[in-house]
Amino acid sequence: MPRTASLPRPALALTVLAALTLLAGPVRAQIPWLPVADGFPTTAAEQNGFRAHTRHLEMWDYLRALRGATTEMRLGTYGLTQQGRELPFAIFSRPLVSDPLEAQALGRPIVVLAANVHGGERTFREGLLILMRDLATPGTRVNQLLDEVTVIVTPQLNPDGFEASAQGQRGNAWGIDLNRDYVKLEDPAIAALVANVVAEWRPHVFVDGHNGGSRPYNLNYQCPSHVDPMLELTLICDREIFPAIDRRLASEGYRAWYYTGGNEQEWQVGGWQARIGRNYVGFLNSIGILFEAPTQQQESGARAGYLAYLTVLEFVTQNAERVMGLVDRAREETVAMGAGPSGEVAVQMEYAPEEYPVDYLVIRGGGRGNGTREDTVQVRGARLMKKPVATRLRPRPWAYILPRDAVAAVAMLRRHRIHVERLVAPATLDVDAYTIDDVTYEQAYNHAAAMRIEVGDVRTLEQNFPTGTYIVPTAQPLGRLAAHMLEPETDDNVIYWNTMDAWVPRPGVRAAGGGGLPNADREPSLPFTGPLLVPIYKLMRPTPLTSAVVE
Ligand SMILES: [Zn+2]
Repeated sequence: MPRTASLPRPALALTVLAALTLLAGPVRAQIPWLPVADGFPTTAAEQNGFRAHTRHLEMWDYLRALRGATTEMRLGTYGLTQQGRELPFAIFSRPLVSDPLEAQALGRPIVVLAANVHGGERTFREGLLILMRDLATPGTRVNQLLDEVTVIVTPQLNPDGFEASAQGQRGNAWGIDLNRDYVKLEDPAIAALVANVVAEWRPHVFVDGHNGGSRPYNLNYQCPSHVDPMLELTLICDREIFPAIDRRLASEGYRAWYYTGGNEQEWQVGGWQARIGRNYVGFLNSIGILFEAPTQQQESGARAGYLAYLTVLEFVTQNAERVMGLVDRAREETVAMGAGPSGEVAVQMEYAPEEYPVDYLVIRGGGRGNGTREDTVQVRGARLMKKPVATRLRPRPWAYILPRDAVAAVAMLRRHRIHVERLVAPATLDVDAYTIDDVTYEQAYNHAAAMRIEVGDVRTLEQNFPTGTYIVPTAQPLGRLAAHMLEPETDDNVIYWNTMDAWVPRPGVRAAGGGGLPNADREPSLPFTGPLLVPIYKLMRPTPLTSAVVE
């Protein structure tokens, strides 16, 4: 039966109902969800009055029932979690496409809407599940969007973390943070998301729903904030998408502002590392949008998320040519920069204040149990600390060269579908190489000793490279990501994530007795004497090479 607030009821009953609802918490009838059409399912959270979240198997029951009620949706599994749970995805478009080539042929934007990569962060997932029903319900205004956009929904990226405890946990079943795994791709759930959804469909926009940020806002947002992705991919969020979300949320009494929090002087934003989903998407030349729910308030939180996801879809349909043009331009620019090669790779960065002052709200007082009153304070003319500024740049090479032993590093690159080749004949090449001043280790997520290299100087040298040496051209659509992963001073490179441990020479390490050095009579190999060099070389000029594609 349609769930609607507009059915006529006796005045007395309505008053009693309103009073009871007020006592029970948020006033559900005030939230203007679309009516549920005949035959369409409701989520477990809707059924229990948003007192408990829709659990993983309840979600699957709902998705299957939704699929059974409509011809406007495809439902599938894009992978399995560590504990074997099925990861759902749904496709919505009209005509209903079944694969990426078909979607690309429609010439429309492709948008991925995701949630719950942190298992305990569930609020926006409930709104996204309801949005899926409205997308699939013929005749709704939401459903009309499917004439102009292809939508892929992945409503639960981390069901293992969701189901790990009553509150859910941030990491996966092993406690590993999946939203810090986007470069190393060691977790099967995130690796499957990248392989089967992101790399397959190449979305123009990717939206990722979390819980975090600051009240009194109902939603915090942020787009890519590393300096290397094309800046316009972030500016379109700051100048157009976020103001549209502000207006849409305000129409129902909600507030939105940047992630993450501030004081009377400045507002700080989230991290810039490529390992974070929203930044990773920027390195892929797409628009990566983070949503955070600052409270766990279930129904109003779900509604704020619903409205924000919906606003992104509406914006993308109203500005389809521009959104697609921007992403195309970022891809073309990436290839052109590699082909030159031209420009520089920012291997270290920091945030500076944006040039414009900002106004926002902060909450003061109201400490738990100390009896102070909570005040919402208006801050004016403060600094927004989100402008990415490079603090160390290295020239972009035409290609990076990795030793033939670097199988694990290449496997990591290939998980992103970065294009890699191998020499099929030896080559003598003039290359740039970094000397190593120091090697240090630090704990990083599940890596007990991630490797940091302190680079000394840059040497230009003639080097013999044997058959099998890996070549990674930067003139490819994923060239920005490739450069970030192959420059040894970035936060997220193949050396840092321990795929090259055996081949990075350490100061003070001597040759083992009994033939530890390569045999000079055989093929030339890497130098183990002389200056210690980072075993990733940079080929600075376009160079014909006898190489073949690595499958
Ligand atoms: Zn999160």
